[in-house]
Amino acid sequence: MTAVRVDGDEVANGILADVTERVRARVAAGLRPPHLSVVLVGENEASEAYVRGKHRDAERVGMTSSDHRLPETATTADVVTLVDALNRDPDVSGVLVQQPFPPQVDVPAVVEAVDPVKDVDGFHPISAGRLLLGQPGLVACTPAGILRMLDHYGIELDGRRAVVLGRSNIVGKPAALLLLARNATVTICHSRTAGLPDLCREADVLVAAVGRLWFVQPGWVKPGAAVIDVGVNRKPDGRLGGDVDPGVAEVAGWLSPVPRGVGPVTRAMLLANTCRAEEARRPG
Ligand code: NAP
Repeated sequence: MTAVRVDGDEVANGILADVTERVRARVAAGLRPPHLSVVLVGENEASEAYVRGKHRDAERVGMTSSDHRLPETATTADVVTLVDALNRDPDVSGVLVQQPFPPQVDVPAVVEAVDPVKDVDGFHPISAGRLLLGQPGLVACTPAGILRMLDHYGIELDGRRAVVLGRSNIVGKPAALLLLARNATVTICHSRTAGLPDLCREADVLVAAVGRLWFVQPGWVKPGAAVIDVGVNRKPDGRLGGDVDPGVAEVAGWLSPVPRGVGPVTRAMLLANTCRAEEARRPG
């Protein structure tokens, strides 16, 4: 079997087209376009590139965006004060504080400072709690994107077995909750899980979010399963590779590539969340 490629660019383009249309309709109705504010603390080359990409994406869908920078020496209080000002700014729809932070900045304090109404990263405990309770709210971009990818390819979830490799708060746990909400029977695995290959082989849907190059082996995958590879790892040649061994393509029914899989969908979901935050705050 050669797996169907779960094309992240194609899924992302669909999301971006939908957001563009929603933004256009709001502007046509005389409303301001949604506005994304990105906070960057300190100097980090990768973060700079991500933030540039976010501004480009916002422009592409007709949104406005702004950059708010603090020096490497900023304290937790400095970041919280800035976030607070953005929370109170009526022209700001979404606030994203780019991680990682310099070591002196307290991550939970900053994440919790973001007004849940503007929490487009979906990391605030209220957003996470709403997801747990099955209430509507802003969902973290990567797990929300994974569900979009599965839906785009018509992959059945109801009554199916799903295995999520990884239990992080930003990928593994929310992905598992979203799959559960869609009536999959979900197993969450982590570094202490015993018998991982056997558990993975039970999965109709396998989500790999471990952060280890080509960790998931072809022999771990049920023939015909849908495999979503979240991992972003450096290969020995310096290029990017996922958590799933390329040989899995010969066993799986669907497989998302790295790069051009989960990455572009995650980026598109940030704009979908920003648009949704604005629609919730100021219905048209
Ligand atoms: P993380 O916080 O480091 O979590 C990794 C998870 O994998 C942990 O739960 C860990 O278990 C588990 N794990 C590690 N080694 C394992 C092993 N040998 N067997 C089973 N489980 C193991 O990482 P993350 O933030 O969730 O990200 C995961 C990967 O996705 C990374 O490569 C990251 O770069 C990538 N990512 C990509 C995107 C995107 O947009 N494409 C977005 C987010 C993340 P313990 O909990 O027991 O330590």
